[in-house]
Amino acid sequence: MVAPMRAFHSDAVSLMLPPGHTFPQSKYRLLREHFEAQPGLLRMAPAEPASEAELALVHTPDYVDAVLLGRLSAAQQREIGFPWSPQMAERSRRSVGASIAAARAALLEGEGVAANMAGGTHHAYADKGSGYCVFNDVAVATRLMQAEWHRRQGPAAGLLRVLVIDLDVHQGNGTAAIFREDDSVFTFSMHGAKNFPFRKETSDLDVDLADGCADAEYLAALDVALQQIEQRIAPQLPGLAFYLAGADPHEGDRLGRLKLSSAGLLARDEKVLAWLGQRRIPVALSMAGGYGHDLADTVACQVNTLQAAARAQQVWQQQAMQE
Ligand SMILES: [Zn+2]
Repeated sequence: MVAPMRAFHSDAVSLMLPPGHTFPQSKYRLLREHFEAQPGLLRMAPAEPASEAELALVHTPDYVDAVLLGRLSAAQQREIGFPWSPQMAERSRRSVGASIAAARAALLEGEGVAANMAGGTHHAYADKGSGYCVFNDVAVATRLMQAEWHRRQGPAAGLLRVLVIDLDVHQGNGTAAIFREDDSVFTFSMHGAKNFPFRKETSDLDVDLADGCADAEYLAALDVALQQIEQRIAPQLPGLAFYLAGADPHEGDRLGRLKLSSAGLLARDEKVLAWLGQRRIPVALSMAGGYGHDLADTVACQVNTLQAAARAQQVWQQQAMQE
């Protein structure tokens, strides 16, 4: 019997949003409660907050201070989309901590697959937040895992190469900008061409999708992209991947503009997880966006994603036992 996949959550601290705010923060609690009602599917734990030093692996000291000490200007808070509060800062640190914990479990603890039940805050740049993103969890976890891997393996192992697969419907502009000059991190983003952010950054691979893109077209584009990634990173496969499994390409999303069905999104997740698993690339998932007209649709897509990841983790572990 293989132990279930590990998943880390950060929803215990509220963002303290004013009444009527459009960000659906209750989806994180609903997702956690879904799995708490079905014990044995996931090994869930609350995430530790990321430290200032960890955040500073990516973010400028001024920006880290501004968030943690409550010095964000009104304009900075508007660009993030959340009003500052001590709780907002604490929750943002814990969401980064959840991606760190998932990456550590997947890579350093040999789990192969693990998840952050929030995160995927890919619009955050080194020196500013944007679009409901305060800190860039995947970027911080990438740099920290490179440091920890290097310390553990010694210099002969070389630098840990990381692949970011960002399938949130919005471009991972912050992540692309952070790693623009960094050859050790391959950033891939597939997103709506006409969606936020309207001025896009250049990832290592960007795939722009037209409004209304549905399952068949989307999955075909993903196949082509995965082939391109393999050709471009060969012969050296990454030692770790992050997968931002946004639920916002779903046809019922308020912001997504695409037309993927729930089955299409699940096929997407299974395709990515199988591609990584066949190559024995450990992966840390994050949930990224999801703004369903009916929030139950968003949560159902995220449940599907976590269940697919939990199955991939079982396959990974069974193969590890046979090696
Ligand atoms: Zn999004």
